[in-house]
Amino acid sequence: MKSALLSGLALLLALAGAAAAPGVAAAPRCGKVPGLAYVNLSEWARANGFAGRWTRTNETVELRKPAARIALTVDSRQIQINGIAVWLFHPVVAQAGAAWLSRLDADLTLQPLLSPPRGSPGARVKTVCLDPGHGGKDPGNQAGANPEKRYTLLLAQEVQKQLARAGLKGVLTRHSDTFLELPARPALAQRKRADLFVSLHFNGAARNPDTVRGAEVFCLTPAGLASTNADRPEAGANTFIGNRNNSRNLFLAYQVQAALVRNLAAEDRGVRRARFAVLRDAAMPAVLIEAGFMSHPVEGRKILTAAYRQQIARAIVEGLLAYKKAVERPA
Ligand SMILES: [Zn+2]
Repeated sequence: MKSALLSGLALLLALAGAAAAPGVAAAPRCGKVPGLAYVNLSEWARANGFAGRWTRTNETVELRKPAARIALTVDSRQIQINGIAVWLFHPVVAQAGAAWLSRLDADLTLQPLLSPPRGSPGARVKTVCLDPGHGGKDPGNQAGANPEKRYTLLLAQEVQKQLARAGLKGVLTRHSDTFLELPARPALAQRKRADLFVSLHFNGAARNPDTVRGAEVFCLTPAGLASTNADRPEAGANTFIGNRNNSRNLFLAYQVQAALVRNLAAEDRGVRRARFAVLRDAAMPAVLIEAGFMSHPVEGRKILTAAYRQQIARAIVEGLLAYKKAVERPA
């Protein structure tokens, strides 16, 4: 009992200590989460070569340097990095005239996107495992007579074709309307020695189907933290195999989301984190793409057309190639 208390205290002290990085002040109890460490955004900006300013006092902040622009909003978890939405773990806080960002977001969200990992052994991208969501007895979302599983397979086949044109090998987790258990999908990726794992899905909105639309890309939530669609860490918020690639997962998700938003002019629902089974078990960098809403009257109709799926595939390949180019640069 006593030792458990002590280790709890040690953890709190360690979290508090993490805020006091050199040159970056800690915020005293500024957020809503007890014990959570924050960094002063303007000091963080200076330390990372950005110029920072309030674009609206106590409401919105902009950090700028020649190659990057970050827009943040107080009390919000959504930021924009070069115009693409990315979800934070914790909202930005305004206190004493300054804006504050959780240290976890500074280290696990901003840092991997601003200085992507590169040039390390194994960073080559040659084979991509494409995972058409659902199949067989699991139809996924159903839009009228059209099951998601049919269109994820058609999209995967199109991405595979376009990858081949770009000189990359695409391997599929299923080639027909068959049921595949979730753990079998990343396992197959590993057997095929895939360098990346990309699970393909289309969304469905039970509420407000006429207005909810757009693209979003998920990567695995780091251990102990809350997923984007949750308020607090879920039960079982542990470390999984996929967490070995936290930085690469996020960077890959960002590149694909950016390409989808720019090429499809799709509504930007942002880069998100979730503990989907296929992401937990993936030994290589992995993302899950929700390329659009089958439930939306306009977007849903487009998803049923080969022409739009070709556009989606082109965007996905462009995102994968952007990732490949960045990680294969010499260190
Ligand atoms: Zn799905």
